[in-house]
Amino acid sequence: MITKVRSHITQNEPPLFERSSPGKKGYQLPVLDVPPVDAVAALGAANVRPEIDGFPEVSEVEVIRHFTRLSTWNYAIDLGMYPLGSCTMKYNPRVNELVARLDGLAWAHPYQPETLAQGAMEIMARLEAALAEITGMDAVTLQPAAGAHGELTGILLIRALLEKRGNPRRKILVPDSAHGTNPATAATAGYAVENIPSNERGMVDVAGLERIVDKDVAALMVTNPNTLGVFEENIKSIAEILHKKGALLYMDGANMNALVGIAKPGDFGVDVMHLNLHKTFSTPHGGGGPGGGPVAVKKIFEPFLPLPRLKHARNKWSFDYKRPRSIGRVRAFYGNFGVMVRALAYILAHGGNGLRNATVDAVLNANYLRKKLEPHYDLPYKAPNMHEVVFSDERQAKRGVRTGDIAKRLIDYGFHPYTVSFPLIVHGALMIEPTETESKLELDLFVEAMTSIAGEIDTDPELVRTAPHSTRTSRVDEVTAARRPILRWKPGETASKAAD
Ligand SMILES: *Cc1c(COP(=O)(O)O)cnc(C)c1O
Repeated sequence: MITKVRSHITQNEPPLFERSSPGKKGYQLPVLDVPPVDAVAALGAANVRPEIDGFPEVSEVEVIRHFTRLSTWNYAIDLGMYPLGSCTMKYNPRVNELVARLDGLAWAHPYQPETLAQGAMEIMARLEAALAEITGMDAVTLQPAAGAHGELTGILLIRALLEKRGNPRRKILVPDSAHGTNPATAATAGYAVENIPSNERGMVDVAGLERIVDKDVAALMVTNPNTLGVFEENIKSIAEILHKKGALLYMDGANMNALVGIAKPGDFGVDVMHLNLHKTFSTPHGGGGPGGGPVAVKKIFEPFLPLPRLKHARNKWSFDYKRPRSIGRVRAFYGNFGVMVRALAYILAHGGNGLRNATVDAVLNANYLRKKLEPHYDLPYKAPNMHEVVFSDERQAKRGVRTGDIAKRLIDYGFHPYTVSFPLIVHGALMIEPTETESKLELDLFVEAMTSIAGEIDTDPELVRTAPHSTRTSRVDEVTAARRPILRWKPGETASKAAD
C-alpha cells in the first residue's frame, strides 16, 4: 500500500527566516590574537546596530541545504537547451572557469600596484588585441561592463569626435528592429532618436536612408545581423551614405556570434561597435551579471577612448591617465576581470579555425531549426537567416493560442522558453537561437517539442493556453508581481502569509 507522506524536501522550500531559531550560528571565528576593542568606541554609535531585525539564525548545514534546494529550481544551460533569441545562451566550457579561478587571477585586487598586476594587465592587453583582430577594428576598450554600457560609451565617443569637428549634431537613427537599449542609449547620450522602418525583407531600406541622412544625423545604430537574424546585405552602401554626410556607423555587435571568423565589421564600414563578452565569448550570464561590453573603434576615435589606457613601455605595463581628449572613465574598477579571463581563454582554446567553426555551426543550427519548424509556424521574414530565426504565432493565434502560451508549454517539455514577443516588428514573435553548442540530438528534441505543441494547438488549444502543467506553480499574476512586489519579510510572517 502506498500512503501519501509529507516529504521534507519540498519543492516549496520556505524562506531561510522560517528555519531560524535564536542562537544558531553557521560560522566560527578564530581565537582573537589582538586585544578586543569595543565596537561602539571604534566605529561610533551611529554606525553600530544592537541587532539586525529579523536576521536569520541558522546552522551551516541549514544554509547549504536551503540554497542547494533553491538551486534545483533553476533552469540552467548546464541542464538543457536555452533557446532565448538575442541572448546567445551558449554552453560555457569548463576550461574558462578553470583559468578564471587561478589564484593569482581570482584574488587580484583593484588597488594592487601595477608592478604586482603585470600578468593581469597583459591578459587585458591580449584580449584587446584579439578582439581588435576579430572585429577588424583598430583599438578596443574593456571598460564597459555590459552591452548597453558599451553602447553608451560608443555613442559618447561619436559625440566627442563630432564635437571636435565642430558640431555634435542632433539625431541618431535607429531601425525599428533594434534592441530597446539602442534608442535608450541615444537618448541618454543627449540625442533625439529617429526610428527608421525596415523594408519587406527585414533590412534597412537603403533608398529611404539616403533621403533622411542629413547634417543633423550623428550616427545610425544598426545591429548586424539584426534582431530578425538577417544580415544587412547593403551594409557597405549604408556606411557610404552615412560617411558622405559626415555621419557615423555604430554597430551593435551583440550578434557577433554569427560573424566571428567569417566577416569583420571594420571591413564593411563600421566606425564604432560593442561586443557582449557574456554572449559571444562564452561567459555564463543571466541573473544580472557580471558581463563585459568592450567597445572597438577605428583609429580616429582612439584619442577619445575612456581612460586609463593600457601602455607598454620598457617591458612594463602601466595605465596611462594623460589623455586630454578622453571622454573620461566610464567605470571605476575592473570588477568583471574574470569575464575577460574567460573570454581570452575561450578565444585561445578555440584558435582562429575553432572560432570560425563555432560561427558556422551556430548558423547551421539556426537554419536547421528554421527548416524543421517552417511547416508548423509562420515565418514572416524569409530572407536567409543566420544565427537565429524569428517565427510568428499568426497560425496559432487563430485558435486563441499566443506566443507566450507556446513558450509556457515548452517548459512542460523540459526546455527553457525562447524569446517571447521580440523583436517588436514581428507581431507575436517566437525568437529562437540555438547557438553552436547544441548537438543534433538536442535540436531534434526541441523540434519534436515544438512540432508536438503545434499539434496540440490543433486538437486541444486549452491545454496549451493553461500550460505549464508540470511546475510547482503554473501561471503567476505577472502584473501584480511587477506592480506590488513583496520585497520585505516581516518577523513572524510565513511565506504563505506574505503571499496572501
Ligand atoms: C543583449 C543585447 C543588448 C544589450 O546587452 P546587455 O549586455 O544586456 O546590456 C543590446 N543589443 C542586442 C541586439 C542584444 O542582443
